Amino acid sequence: MTRMLIMGPPGSGKGTQAGRIADKLGIVAISTGDIFRYNVKEMTPLGQEAKRYIDAGDFVPDEVTNRMVADRIGQSDAAQGFLLDGYPRTVGQVEALDAMLDEAGLRLDAVVELTVEDEELVERLLKRAEIEGRADDTAEVIRHRLDLYHRETASVIEQYTDRGIVSRVDGTGQIDDVTERLLQAIYSVRAATGSFPAVDRARQD
Ligand code: ADP
Repeated sequence: MTRMLIMGPPGSGKGTQAGRIADKLGIVAISTGDIFRYNVKEMTPLGQEAKRYIDAGDFVPDEVTNRMVADRIGQSDAAQGFLLDGYPRTVGQVEALDAMLDEAGLRLDAVVELTVEDEELVERLLKRAEIEGRADDTAEVIRHRLDLYHRETASVIEQYTDRGIVSRVDGTGQIDDVTERLLQAIYSVRAATGSFPAVDRARQD
């Protein structure tokens, strides 16, 4: 059983890698960005509230995001472990997640941070804009999301680094190679912290 986070700037390939790693570890990948986009598309009350922030590349307010995550990780498929993608992104969200886990007597096993240079990120995101047409993939909004990531999320990573559970992984190169690097990083953090049950070890190969 694993409870972990994948962090990384917009365009670092978090979403793609999160799905692959979660499959491999037999846990569910939970992407706050995907949940928000789904709610915007379905025009739910949550989507209507979140849309203006997402379109502008701003963070949805913590209170809204925290409530959504608490609800999601409380669902039965997350009881076997989860990989959070895109959360927490603020110090307030770190505190909220700590409280959620504490309450359930759980803790995080690992945090992986995907690193990619800003220049390559902008290039990747502009390319994705052509293919997927995401409303927040315009040059101006991309720049804003990157700035926000560096400004806000640095202190989130710092907090987890202090707990000794962060691995930085190079997010460039072939997708398969990045997946492999991430899995190796996760296995070593879990082995080092002893949070590595036999059942998961069997899944390594
Ligand atoms: P990216 O990492 O490429 O910016 P995501 O798909 O993870 O994209 O998120 C898209 C948008 O959803 C963000 O710009 C933000 O508006 C909102 N969002 C996602 N996760 C969070 C979060 N943890 N806190 C606040 N807003 C979030």
